[in-house]
Amino acid sequence: MTNGRSASDFVLPRRVAMATMHGKERALSASFAAIGIDLVLPSALDTDQFGTFTRDRPRSGTMLEAARAKAQAAMQETGLQAALASEGAYGPHPTIPLLAVGRELLLFVDAAQGFEIAEMRIDEQPTFGHCPAVSVGDADAFLGRIGFPEQGLVVAPVGRLNAPVAKGICSVPDLEIAIETAVGLSPTGRAHIETDMRAFMNPRRMVVIGEVGRQMTARLSTPCTYCRHPGWGKVRTEYGLPCSLCGCPTSLPRHDVFGCVSCGVEERHAQSPGAVADPTYCPLCNP
Ligand SMILES: [Zn+2]
Ligand SMILES: [Zn+2]
Repeated sequence: MTNGRSASDFVLPRRVAMATMHGKERALSASFAAIGIDLVLPSALDTDQFGTFTRDRPRSGTMLEAARAKAQAAMQETGLQAALASEGAYGPHPTIPLLAVGRELLLFVDAAQGFEIAEMRIDEQPTFGHCPAVSVGDADAFLGRIGFPEQGLVVAPVGRLNAPVAKGICSVPDLEIAIETAVGLSPTGRAHIETDMRAFMNPRRMVVIGEVGRQMTARLSTPCTYCRHPGWGKVRTEYGLPCSLCGCPTSLPRHDVFGCVSCGVEERHAQSPGAVADPTYCPLCNP
């Protein structure tokens, strides 16, 4: 119990505004319907105002801040007091050269009851990449690898990447025209072809958004053991698995921390009870 409320006061909203204009609701609505939540699409919401993947409108702030701004706008537009917003970030893998990694964030905001839940999913095999070309033939291997035309493309002139000539390209004739246009506008006479990262153009993203959606509905369906508020789940990972030789904390993960979004209670669960780290990871034994 917090703020003088009892467990029975906490009822999840039945209608939740979905801050998207890129078809993400197709990946999410079934799992939310299964827990009794209808996702409501605002009739006029330009989520591109919060940033695009194509550099023409950079995102300001963190992923979480961008998702919050989208959720606020969706609530304003629909007059609802709850919203769901999704935000993706794609880039080079932090530790493995030449590989890409994606992060998909889903944010559930209940403004009436004053809580939010963030769920994140890492995709280590995203459809993400780019390739220079002066003709479609130059990009054959790239196109095969990313699964064109089911995966859409963006084309920009090399040297002017923040001014794409076309987005959402899903046919060879459209790609030919876009490459020709971009080559003509490029100071170096080359086109930059890249994966369109908008969800409805990126089948892999839709799969991962569906997965993070199921993480969210599972969490919304899990009440806190202490105050019964919905949203109990993993809130972070703690590092410091002890070295097997000297016991010193290493950089390896040790605990998953589960918590409540309302009363703040937390529980630590060892990832593998009794596990210890190889001294290779120890700052003392292997400095
Ligand atoms: Zn050690
Ligand atoms: Zn609680």
